[in-house]
Amino acid sequence: MIEAPKGTYDVLPVAAEARAVLEGHAQQILGRAGFKRIETPVFESTELFVRGVGEATDVVQKEMYTFTDQGGRALTLRPEGTAPIARAYIEHGMHKLPQPVKFWYLSSFFRQERPQAGRYRQFWQVGAETIGSERPEVDAELIVLLAELLETMGVKGVRLRLASLGTPETRAQYREELTSYLHAHEAQLSAEVKARIELNPLRAFDSSDPSTQAVMKGAPKLLDQLRPEDKEHFDSVKALLDVVGLIYELDPTLVRGLDYYTRTLFEFTADGLGAQSGVGGGGRYDRLIEQIGGQSTPACGWAAGIERILLAGSEVPVAADTVDLLVAPAADRLAGATAPQFELAREARRAGLAAQLELTGRSLKAALKHADRLGARYVAIVSDAEHVSLKEMATGEQHELSADAVIAAILRGPRL
Ligand code: AMP
Repeated sequence: MIEAPKGTYDVLPVAAEARAVLEGHAQQILGRAGFKRIETPVFESTELFVRGVGEATDVVQKEMYTFTDQGGRALTLRPEGTAPIARAYIEHGMHKLPQPVKFWYLSSFFRQERPQAGRYRQFWQVGAETIGSERPEVDAELIVLLAELLETMGVKGVRLRLASLGTPETRAQYREELTSYLHAHEAQLSAEVKARIELNPLRAFDSSDPSTQAVMKGAPKLLDQLRPEDKEHFDSVKALLDVVGLIYELDPTLVRGLDYYTRTLFEFTADGLGAQSGVGGGGRYDRLIEQIGGQSTPACGWAAGIERILLAGSEVPVAADTVDLLVAPAADRLAGATAPQFELAREARRAGLAAQLELTGRSLKAALKHADRLGARYVAIVSDAEHVSLKEMATGEQHELSADAVIAAILRGPRL
């Protein structure tokens, strides 16, 4: 048997319905706030992600599905949605539209990660982006909208962590300062942290080693070093979240795997996801559009994992299927039955009924049993166009009519 590739999964019909519910909520919550749906291609030029997401990131270094096509072009299955949307914004001259432009998407993404619960190689994200405004309301609004989507989906134990990264310049300067601080305290750091000082000094904040933790209490914090205009922006974002009573924790150690973030950075975690507790997150990316060849344009956005929302959320109530009519051949299987059956099912659907054809050639007895399993309200037992027996399943009542009269009889219901 040929199985689906490792880290991928099939969305079977039962799961598809819960996803459709989530998509409906996203459409409603984001649509009301003026976000419009966008879909970008599944693959893009590799260059877009190398320049957009950042050459040194894990995503670009280790996780991309990159291939060369027959024409020798370097292409990559999208690992994330922001760089493609920024590309589309530039390519379609959307800076000429009234700003900001607000998009939402629900699409699949691809990363070659180690598969485990909540982590797949093809996964789905719902995301939102606001491009063309640097106002703090943009950041706060996006955060509030994601919080609302998670709440609507019944995601439990949601926590919001918030930080500001300032500018890349502030960050570079801070990194140097933190690196020197760590070197000065090397003797008290765990071996693991010590080995990674140059590579990723920020990770020292996440260490569970008590002696390292004691050192980190006194370490310089990026949040204390923001430039006045970045600090003011961050203070405004926090004040707006306070206005609506959205609880957050300031986390100066918050790091995310993509290089393009500036200023506001946030992540939502949820209970019940185990090691993969991140359910969604995002931030401001004021430099990205310029970085991939557009005019300098401020922007902010988030993405949340569909699988994780569904894992951490409450059971989605799925409406029971309705089947108004099953169209089956009569026991005598007259040769003339096939065409009128086919036509009747089509006409019934055009009249708004949920109508299915009996498709296996089962006996009438078996077809009636099948109708019962489907929960069909009526079965039309067709001999030919003039002779149809319409059976109401709830009462067992049966009436003889012509095929033409069946739909009207059902619509008139409930009694034949
Ligand atoms: P990121 O694009 O890395 O910021 O991820 C945003 C959200 O997408 C995360 O919080 C997860 O919910 C989800 N996500 C990211 N990578 C994966 C993956 N490999 N499998 C499933 N969900 C993922």
